[in-house]
Amino acid sequence: MVTALRALLVAAALAATATVAPAAPPDGRDAPDLKTLRPGAFVVQQQAVPVDVVFIGYRRQQIDEATLLGMLPQTYRPTVRYPQFYGLNGRDMGLEFRFRYRTRYASRAFENEFFDFLAKAGSDGPLTPFQNAYNDQTRNVLDVAGPVLYIDAPSVESYLASQKDGDRQGYTIYFINWYGRRDFRFHVYTKTDEVDPDTGYDFGTLRGSRKMIAWGGSVSRTWFYDLSAGPESWTNNWLVDDDQSEYHMPPVWEYRTGGYRTPAALTSDLGLVARFVGIDLLFTTSPLYDPLVTAPDVGGAKVVHVSMHEDDPASNGLQYFNREFTRRELRRFEPYYPWKVGLTDHRPIDPGAKRSLDIFANTLVADDCWNALGSTFGQLFCYFNANLARYVPHYPARDYVGEVFGFNTTDAALGALSGLLGFADDNWVDGTQTHVFMFDTPETRGAGFGFTTTTIHEFGHHIGMSHPHDGYDSELGLDFGAAGPFEFAWSGDESATVMHYIALSNGFGTFDRDNQHRWEMAGYVNWSNAVLGDIAGHPRVAAVAGLIEAADEAAGEAVDAFRRWEYLRAATKAREAYSHVALAARQIGASTPTLDAARRALPAAASQRIICEIRHPFD
Ligand SMILES: [Zn+2]
Repeated sequence: MVTALRALLVAAALAATATVAPAAPPDGRDAPDLKTLRPGAFVVQQQAVPVDVVFIGYRRQQIDEATLLGMLPQTYRPTVRYPQFYGLNGRDMGLEFRFRYRTRYASRAFENEFFDFLAKAGSDGPLTPFQNAYNDQTRNVLDVAGPVLYIDAPSVESYLASQKDGDRQGYTIYFINWYGRRDFRFHVYTKTDEVDPDTGYDFGTLRGSRKMIAWGGSVSRTWFYDLSAGPESWTNNWLVDDDQSEYHMPPVWEYRTGGYRTPAALTSDLGLVARFVGIDLLFTTSPLYDPLVTAPDVGGAKVVHVSMHEDDPASNGLQYFNREFTRRELRRFEPYYPWKVGLTDHRPIDPGAKRSLDIFANTLVADDCWNALGSTFGQLFCYFNANLARYVPHYPARDYVGEVFGFNTTDAALGALSGLLGFADDNWVDGTQTHVFMFDTPETRGAGFGFTTTTIHEFGHHIGMSHPHDGYDSELGLDFGAAGPFEFAWSGDESATVMHYIALSNGFGTFDRDNQHRWEMAGYVNWSNAVLGDIAGHPRVAAVAGLIEAADEAAGEAVDAFRRWEYLRAATKAREAYSHVALAARQIGASTPTLDAARRALPAAASQRIICEIRHPFD
């Protein structure tokens, strides 16, 4: 497998010319005094992205630097993923990144300091269930001996982030190897500072499956990956008796003759992690859905409306949903919109909703609107889509309303789908996002999950975000998930984001914000260009010259901020630019056919779905 993947990478490296077609020139009708906006033009924002790969505790002869660098992509163009499941291209995101790599080996002095820090930061504890499971394998090359160190992962991230060169922008991957030093201790990384807001459940403390080997993105553009930690559960890194058809990385001491992997494979394994996890899933990612589909009109808010359906007489779903918590996390993520979280409760669930839930769960076999979609999985979408007005109150037309249907139900009612937390559905036509569906049961709550983090996670999908364990490799044109040759991609979950499955973060992290803000910045600049192109020939355009000037100024500030890596400001200013031109079009009554076409649904085709399930419910 890894040989095939490497061949693919070599082919891609040869094919990657790293050149971009220049943006289309302005059509000549633009006002001459615009500095940034280009009426009617489509602009690709380009950015050089430095990526530092730093080795701590690895010797130079262990790593073949040329091979590792040869595995990494030269460029990344974010792509909307869901339309591709239908064979369609989503909106061009208008972004291209060119990577600038630098590899570094930490000095002996720094290594001494760092491993001393780890030893002091950790506290002794027993072997985790997965370290014991590793010891119980028949082919393991050593036995992990306790006590082992439990080390706070965000503290290590902060320590490493403080090492960064002062004003150099970019991302850093630290590949750590403590093994082989005299002061080596078996260790795992933990994160215990965020409990589930509804259940108070502390996954980080209580679960063996949350003792990790990697972390990053809490407070910095840093991610560390330590193959001398663990062995851990999340990437199946403890498992060394398997046939390797699911490709995961073993502990570093297994890279030896007679071990799980050859010494030479260490370089290519770290290369795979750097490319498919560090770059594709954390640093420069692709959206699951087009974020701009969820743009409110000028002066409008983003609305999450939760329509709760009570299907368990013994409990109350409202006790497991926190509106203010949800609003706060979403507002922190996209503070350039006003946010509202609405809630209606249907107690008990009405017959129409219950029938659709049962058909969806395959506990009721009946024909209904799903037949036209070819799958009972579509029943919730088609029923609620046809009956929106019954379940979701009226909001002002300028607001963007995302509907979230919550089912406070039981595992029995969910049938074979028990364990499903939710999914952010599309329109079953072209991969445009529609409604969110989520589920909570007494059993699910026993496993730690209420509705609040599911709402934030699923709405995160709805407004754009992918999981940090599935994504898109731009140069290979490859959409991948954490299975088969990419099982190791589960390590992306060991980063700060509510979009992971590991349930250690309740909000969005640094990597989420960088990506979302860049997507929206580039998108709003191009929407502004589209509107300006549309209204340029309008007889009353002179009447809105002030707004157009203000838009151009805001767009200029957006581009400047983007160049300085101040992405929040870039997105905020680009949204402002778009608001000005949209208002200008409205004031003179101009139509905006280019923008309308950009917002219109894509032509039709058939597809796969991404659903969000509990992983390791009980360990
Ligand atoms: Zn998900």
